[in-house]
Amino acid sequence: MKILVCVKQVPDTNEVKIDPVKGTLIRDGVPSILNPDDANALEAALQLKDKDETVQVAVLTMGPPQATYMLRECLAMGADEAYLLSDRAFGGADTCATSTTIAAGIKKVTGVDVIFAGRQAIDGDTAQVGPQVAQRLGVPVVTYVQDIQMGDGKVTVQRQMEDGYEVIEVKTPCLLTCVKELNDPRYMSVGAIVDAYKKEITVWNHTDVELDPADCGLNASPTQVFRSFTPPQKGKGEMLSGTVSEMAGALVGKLVEKHLV
Ligand SMILES: Cc1cc2nc3c(=O)[nH]c(=O)nc-3n(C[C@H](O)[C@H](O)[C@H](O)COP(=O)(O)OP(=O)(O)OC[C@H]3O[C@@H](n4cnc5c(N)ncnc54)[C@H](O)[C@@H]3O)c2cc1C
Repeated sequence: MKILVCVKQVPDTNEVKIDPVKGTLIRDGVPSILNPDDANALEAALQLKDKDETVQVAVLTMGPPQATYMLRECLAMGADEAYLLSDRAFGGADTCATSTTIAAGIKKVTGVDVIFAGRQAIDGDTAQVGPQVAQRLGVPVVTYVQDIQMGDGKVTVQRQMEDGYEVIEVKTPCLLTCVKELNDPRYMSVGAIVDAYKKEITVWNHTDVELDPADCGLNASPTQVFRSFTPPQKGKGEMLSGTVSEMAGALVGKLVEKHLV
């Protein structure tokens, strides 16, 4: 069995800053990391490999050449194969074009039975890419997966809900988007880091994955970003004190003052 994990290199911050003039992300001085949910997805695949040595784990990303560092990290964690989809033609992709390219790449990787992705990336935050890739490949998708049990030609998963979980059985091939509650990702060992640099990373451009430049990157991105901005910080809140009825009275007084009631 081969599990392919979609991994994305993201800026190491929860507070994405926007250039107020250009409207683009400020990446200067922000180190890049493996997207946290993708680390959980990879760990889930590696745990299945630990239990069954016939399981092969591949990682795939679409990104600039610097993404090879993240792929080496994935190899050092224990992945067997790494694929980088990198081409000027892929630049400026919205989620639609991103998923077209990733799906085209996955089609070129031989023998993939199950695809794992993170629930969402901490920079783009849309959680669209996983389901869109599944749609392009014509395979079923289960999102918010917090437990995975592999069977013969099927996978049984727990799908996280706000107040519990659903148990879903899905036929392979399929795509699962993974949440952090799945596991704690492992650390790389020094020996594994050294070995990771001996492994090959396959780099593909648009020709390799049989995509016309008109069908990828900015050319195939219907999303038009009108304006990007960092919302202004809210003012400090005011704490009321006193008995419950005094606080309720004060609150009503403030709402009346602002003509809200
Ligand atoms: C008009 C427009 C132009 C853009 N131009 C650029 C640009 O020039 N450069 C740029 O960096 N971003 C650009 N973006 C942002 C880019 O579209 C998103 O970062 C990208 O599509 C992934 O979406 P997301 O971050 O919301 O991922 P999510 O949908 O939140 O990610 C979910 C999961 O999908 C998988 N995944 C997501 N992206 C990748 C990837 N690249 N490789 C492998 N797996 C992945 C991961 O498993 C991830 O956990 C642009 C967006 C728009 C709308």
